[in-house]
Amino acid sequence: MSDKILYLSAEQFENELDHNKGLLVLDFFSEDCPPCAQLAPIYERMAEKFPQVTFVKMMRQTYRPLAERLSVKGSPTVLFFQNGKEVGERLTGYIAKSQMRIALENLLGIEPEQIEKEVIDADVLVLGGGPAGLTTALYASRSRLRTIVIEEGIAGGQAATTYHIANYPGTVGTIGGKDLMENMINQVKGFGAEIHDLKEVFSVGLSSEVKEIVTEDAVYRAPVVVVATGAESRRLPAEREADFRGNGVHYCATCDGAMYQEADNVIVVGGGNSAVEEAIYLTKFAKHITIIHQFDHFQASKTAQEEAMANPKISVIWNSEVRSIIGDKHLTGVKIENVLNHSESTVEANGVFVYIGMQPRTQLLKDQLKINSWGYIEADDEMRTNIEGVFAAGDVRSKTVRQVATAVGDGAVAAVNAERYLASHK
Ligand SMILES: Cc1cc2nc3c(=O)[nH]c(=O)nc-3n(C[C@H](O)[C@H](O)[C@H](O)COP(=O)(O)OP(=O)(O)OC[C@H]3O[C@@H](n4cnc5c(N)ncnc54)[C@H](O)[C@@H]3O)c2cc1C
Repeated sequence: MSDKILYLSAEQFENELDHNKGLLVLDFFSEDCPPCAQLAPIYERMAEKFPQVTFVKMMRQTYRPLAERLSVKGSPTVLFFQNGKEVGERLTGYIAKSQMRIALENLLGIEPEQIEKEVIDADVLVLGGGPAGLTTALYASRSRLRTIVIEEGIAGGQAATTYHIANYPGTVGTIGGKDLMENMINQVKGFGAEIHDLKEVFSVGLSSEVKEIVTEDAVYRAPVVVVATGAESRRLPAEREADFRGNGVHYCATCDGAMYQEADNVIVVGGGNSAVEEAIYLTKFAKHITIIHQFDHFQASKTAQEEAMANPKISVIWNSEVRSIIGDKHLTGVKIENVLNHSESTVEANGVFVYIGMQPRTQLLKDQLKINSWGYIEADDEMRTNIEGVFAAGDVRSKTVRQVATAVGDGAVAAVNAERYLASHK
C-alpha cells in the first residue's frame, strides 16, 4: 500500500473535496477485478510522479451510495476533480499508463516539451523483462556490467501470465508462472541489475555506436542493446472482437479467468498447448468450457489432451472458426462457421479466451533490424543481429521453439556475447 495514496471513507472524501483546491484523483476499485489489479501499480507510480496531485482510492462495494451519487457503474473508474468539481474525462476498464499520464499532464497544463528527460548511461540496455531479458540481465550484471532492463509493463513477460509451467527444468512438479518469474526477478535484482518497469518506450535508436532508448521521462544510452520484447497473442480475426476486447474477449486466463466465476459457459478458441491447458484452468471458475478448434484434433501435448478430454466440464467443437462476437453491452455468444460444410451456428457464452498463436513485438524496431516475413528478428546462433552491438533473445527472435527454457538460453548467450563485444570495443 503506497503512503502517497489516501484510502478515505465517504465522509472523509467529501471533506477532502470541500477543502482541496488542487487536482484530486479518485480511483473506485473492486476486489477480484483484473483491470483494477492492473491499474494498481500504475496508480502508485503516478502518485510518486505527481506529488502536487492528491490521489485517493475507495472500494466501490463499501462506498456504494457515493459511487451511485457520482454515477460510477464499473470498476475501476478514475475521476478527476479540481476545486471540488469534476473535470476532464473519466477513465474506465483496462487503463494504460499512457492514458493516466496524458490525462494528468493535460489537467495540470504540462506540455510534453516541458518534461525534462533524465539521461541514464549503462553498459547494457535490455528491452523487455520476460525470461529472455531477465536472464540477459542476470548474466550481464554478474559480469559487473551496469545493466538496465526497460519494461513497458511489470517484469515477468508471458510466463508470468501462465497458470502453471510444468516443463521448466529444476522445478519439481509444476510451478506457477508468476512464482517462477518472481524468483527470476529477485535473483536478477540480487546481482545488481536494475529493472525500470512501467516505461513507455517512445523510440529506439540503434544505428550509432551509442544506442538510445527514449521513454516518457528518460533517455537511456549504452553501447549494447539486447532486444527481448517477446511476443503477444494473435488477435481473434472475428467481427466485433475490438468492441469486446477486455470485456468478454480475453487473451489471458490467469489475468481475467476469475471474472467468470460460476459463468454458464466460457469459450476457449484454439487447440495448442496454451488453449488446452488454459481451458483446464478455466474449469476452476466457469461451470462449462467449450473449446472451439479449426481442426479435428488438438496440437497440444498428449498429457494436456488427456486431462482435458477426461474433464466433464470441457466439451469441444471441432472443425470450426469463430466469425463474429454477439452481444450488446455484454458478450452473449459467438457465431461460428464449420470449415468443412460452411454451416453457421451460434454458441451461447459469457466470455471468450483466445489462444490462436502469437505475433512478435517488433513494431518499434522493424525499420532498423533485419526482420523475417513473419515479423521476427533475424539473429545468428550468438544472438547477433544485423547491427553491431545489438542482440535479440527469446520469442522475438526467428526460431522454431518458443518456450521459457529456450528464452533463458537465448538470454544467457546474448549476455555472454554482449560482454565479449564490449571487451573487444574498449
Ligand atoms: C498462455 C501461455 C502458456 C505458456 N505456457 C508455457 C509453458 O508451460 N512452458 C514454457 O516453457 N513456455 C510457455 N509459454 C511460452 C513462454 O511464456 C514464452 O516462450 C516466454 O515467456 C518467452 O519469453 P521472452 O522473454 O522471450 O518474451 P516475453 O515473455 O513475451 O516477454 C517480453 C517482455 O517484453 C515486454 N515488452 C514488449 N515490448 C516492449 C517494448 N516496446 N518496450 C518495453 N518492453 C516491452 C513485454 O511487456 C514482456 O514483459 C506460454 C505462453 C503463453 C502465452
